[in-house]
Amino acid sequence: MLLIACPYCGPRAEIEFAYGGEAHIARPGPEVSEEEWAAFLYLRDNTKGVLAERWRHAHGCGRFFNALRDTRTDRILETYEMGAARPDAKQGEAA
Ligand SMILES: [Zn+2]
Repeated sequence: MLLIACPYCGPRAEIEFAYGGEAHIARPGPEVSEEEWAAFLYLRDNTKGVLAERWRHAHGCGRFFNALRDTRTDRILETYEMGAARPDAKQGEAA
């Protein structure tokens, strides 16, 4: 079973968590076109390598946090609190 380290509670089983999509995405303002809004809603990078993601400890503290996950191995490299800057990926970033 995969363990995910909640920044607030520590390592817990993956079944306690819910995936929340890509992290660090800027929400556009009301002045954007419908095409730009649709792109914000539906278009995402399909990263091969380290991706920053939002996760929620749904069956624990209930809080959101971010994680760096390598999409090639499904390994979570690091987790960090919401609002914190994306830390440098320690490995796999340049691949
Ligand atoms: Zn937690």
